[in-house]
Amino acid sequence: MAKRDYYEILGVKRSATDIELKSSYRTLAKECHPDRNAGDKEAERRFKELNEAYEALKDPQKRAAYDQFGHAAFEGGMGGRGGPGFGPDFASSMSDIFDDLFGEFMGGRRGQGGGGRSRTGREAGADLRYNLEITLAEAYAGKTAQIRVPASVKCETCSGAGAKPGTKAKTCTTCGGMGKVRASQGFFTIERTCPHCQGRGEMIDDPCADCGGSGRVQKERTLSVNIPAGVEDGTRIRLAGEGEAGLRGGAPGDLYIFLSIKPHEFFQRDGADIFCKVPIAMTTAALGGQIDVPTLEGTTTRVKIPEGTESRKQFRLRGKGMPVLRSKVSGDMYIEVDVETPKNLTRKQRELLEEFERASHKETSPESAGFFSRVKEFFEGKSG
Ligand SMILES: [Zn+2]
Ligand SMILES: [Zn+2]
Repeated sequence: MAKRDYYEILGVKRSATDIELKSSYRTLAKECHPDRNAGDKEAERRFKELNEAYEALKDPQKRAAYDQFGHAAFEGGMGGRGGPGFGPDFASSMSDIFDDLFGEFMGGRRGQGGGGRSRTGREAGADLRYNLEITLAEAYAGKTAQIRVPASVKCETCSGAGAKPGTKAKTCTTCGGMGKVRASQGFFTIERTCPHCQGRGEMIDDPCADCGGSGRVQKERTLSVNIPAGVEDGTRIRLAGEGEAGLRGGAPGDLYIFLSIKPHEFFQRDGADIFCKVPIAMTTAALGGQIDVPTLEGTTTRVKIPEGTESRKQFRLRGKGMPVLRSKVSGDMYIEVDVETPKNLTRKQRELLEEFERASHKETSPESAGFFSRVKEFFEGKSG
């Protein structure tokens, strides 16, 4: 069943003022209100229809969209792509009108971006956020990342104009192409964005089939993002003008890339310095030796362990840390060793260690030997 015309439902002419609209709605709504017509299905249907029509026409932007596109304006996806592009605007229509009324008097308009609407009906595109996770090695070396961003872009078919190719938008009859209308109220003359054309100054009779008249379409774009060496977790990279396309020639929004760095298996980062915990065998710690430790370059580097090295001893590898952004300087890498106590001993190993233990360890383990003799003295001194 074809939908009835909203103006017909409300019993008003297409040129009806807001006041006429409201008064007609009130009269009709009283007639078919469910409270008065309990159980009457036809009255209930009419009441719903009436509300739908009034909801659409009381809002100047929705009304303009309806005038231009009929019921299709609210069905979304005209031609399956993008729709006429009025949807998200509705919620902000009040504040936009407020801005149009007072913005200029207050000495300026809202800032760029964030979907601000200019008096010409152009509308800035929204900013976009893209979360990108990289590895620590990528943060170390820097990289060019290819990212795929789904966003609305200018419609190629109509070059963003919104009119079907070969046709032209015609001058809006309500505002005569000015994009704004004036109304006198007492001493004041109030100028506001033309509700019929949303300030464009023109009307599209034959909307472009690919974008439904909005002048933009959804498309996935591939962008190259340069990630400089040394970036920190949480860095925000702004790509100016790479956000959503603006409406009707409005400026595009920006694309913000939020970088996060994956935790690394071996390395912890602190600014430009890198920390790495390396377990070493007790024998290496006691006898000395060398270990191969991983580096951020993806190779290994040899570190000499002097004899008698203790747990938590740090070795500094100068310049092996993260590069400092926009400089030629690099941080350091700190290797912290963790001496591993031998476990799962063979009989032979146990015998060797027992033999080692029988030898005096006043010299080999002065700390522990000294500690226990001090404890002994402590208790003897107390009892004596
Ligand atoms: Zn188009
Ligand atoms: Zn107009």
